[in-house]
Amino acid sequence: MHDLVIRNALLLDGLGSPPQRGDLSVLNGKISQVGKAEGPAKQTVDAAGLALMPGIIDNHTHYDAQITWDPTLSPSPALGVTTAVIGNCGFTIAPCRAADRERVMRNLTQVEGMSLAALRAGIRWDFESVPQYLDMLERHGAALNVAAFVGHSSVRTYVMGEAATQRVATDQEIFLMRSIVLDAMRAGAVGFSTSSSPAHNGDGGLPMPSRLADEKELRALVGSLRQAGRGVFMLTKGGQTPIRFLEELARDSTRPVVVAALLHSSTNPDSVFSDLREIEAANQRGHRLVGAVSCCPLAMEFTLESPYVLEGLEAWKPALPLKGDAFRKIISSVEFRNAIRSELSRPAHFRLFNGEWDKVQVIESQQSVAALAAASGKHPLDAMLDLALEEDLQTMFNALLLNSDEQAVGRMLRHPHALVSLSDAGAHLTFFNDAGFGLHLLGHWVRELGVLKLEEAAARLTSQPARLFGIRERGALRVGYHADLLLFDPARVGRGAQRRVHDLPAGQPRLTVEPVGVHGVWVNGKPPAEMPGRLLRDFAP
Ligand SMILES: [Zn+2]
Repeated sequence: MHDLVIRNALLLDGLGSPPQRGDLSVLNGKISQVGKAEGPAKQTVDAAGLALMPGIIDNHTHYDAQITWDPTLSPSPALGVTTAVIGNCGFTIAPCRAADRERVMRNLTQVEGMSLAALRAGIRWDFESVPQYLDMLERHGAALNVAAFVGHSSVRTYVMGEAATQRVATDQEIFLMRSIVLDAMRAGAVGFSTSSSPAHNGDGGLPMPSRLADEKELRALVGSLRQAGRGVFMLTKGGQTPIRFLEELARDSTRPVVVAALLHSSTNPDSVFSDLREIEAANQRGHRLVGAVSCCPLAMEFTLESPYVLEGLEAWKPALPLKGDAFRKIISSVEFRNAIRSELSRPAHFRLFNGEWDKVQVIESQQSVAALAAASGKHPLDAMLDLALEEDLQTMFNALLLNSDEQAVGRMLRHPHALVSLSDAGAHLTFFNDAGFGLHLLGHWVRELGVLKLEEAAARLTSQPARLFGIRERGALRVGYHADLLLFDPARVGRGAQRRVHDLPAGQPRLTVEPVGVHGVWVNGKPPAEMPGRLLRDFAP
């Protein structure tokens, strides 16, 4: 007797084959038949008119903290995700000594837009090392399968303490970091992650620890993957680290490298394509590099109290550590504002905000900052900062920052060495929520724009990341594979509008998003509400 039979679905095998109508059955958490399902079942689902594909693998999340208080990993399961890779960009919470917890939480608050009150009230600190953190995840279970990176910034803080944000590491410190990374890999981490992006600032505006690493440190830590014999190296470079150097790391470690975050900028439109060309050339030389791209426009809601959008600017730095009156004073100063104007007028290889004032809106009045400036005869920067100061920094703005040129993004999504990625689920919770990126790919890019075929999009969300990350027996509708499944209506699938809720620990707010056209999600053959997810530790080499 099968546990579950899904009948008459349009089957997308996740491998890119043309869709075929058929059935699929599940027994003991695994796919037992594909095509024609014979025999009785405890539960039968009539899927006429619906499509069935492997569950989405979200390869870029930041659920490391949230998972300790919310094992449902809301909202990802409802949005068709069945496996989440956590610990991207090196921003993990393990390893961490008790004395460093406050420092790590303050850094996460700044760099990933997580409420400090929520982190303080929410994180369950039942661990110190990465192996202990993984054991804790396994003990408590989760709605989704989880694969965890060992994160550079946490490893650096663990070894160097306060100096992690101040200087390069000594040989002795590099040796210690390397042994921690190797232990984490042996305990079942999926790879090693880091960031060199200038957008990544921690508490008080100091760079996140990994940004202080020199080439020697990176070579040593990525080199430990070679010793481990498996694992992925992921890096968010924000225009800093040359692809040439990343190719050397891929060559020396013999491991795949995920290059993030390739987001298209209308003011520097060729930059991501030049990265993709270099990545392609590296692959032709036999080195495995992929470019992490996003299928979502990058838009952020923000107030001047936490203006992530501006914090990556060099000229904003003096304001970063300031609060209260000192902060108000500096953002009022003409000198400070002129420095920002002058920086924005210079070209940059990668920059989150590029002075596109017509794409910054005042949410309440639905008026753009460009229009506001024209009406008041001020420079847009003055118009925005003056309005925020008048409203006690509470004015909500929405900035459409990157990835808004659909023709360019379509080209990126089709690129053979692109990885559809960058949902950032679990982070930036007050700014945006792209956890529904997979549904957006299936609805917007497949149905509405025809940029990808349905089976191609399904493959990019499933077998492609499974192969890259060495995730075994998932990411395809194959007999014997784990029954991670997404049943949806291709005529309706998409993501709903974002809405603000106050359900984080300590009643803190976040943006969440609802699925559209999703008819069923199964993780290891069970609904996510039954907490059927597994901690993945055994990856293919
Ligand atoms: Zn990230």
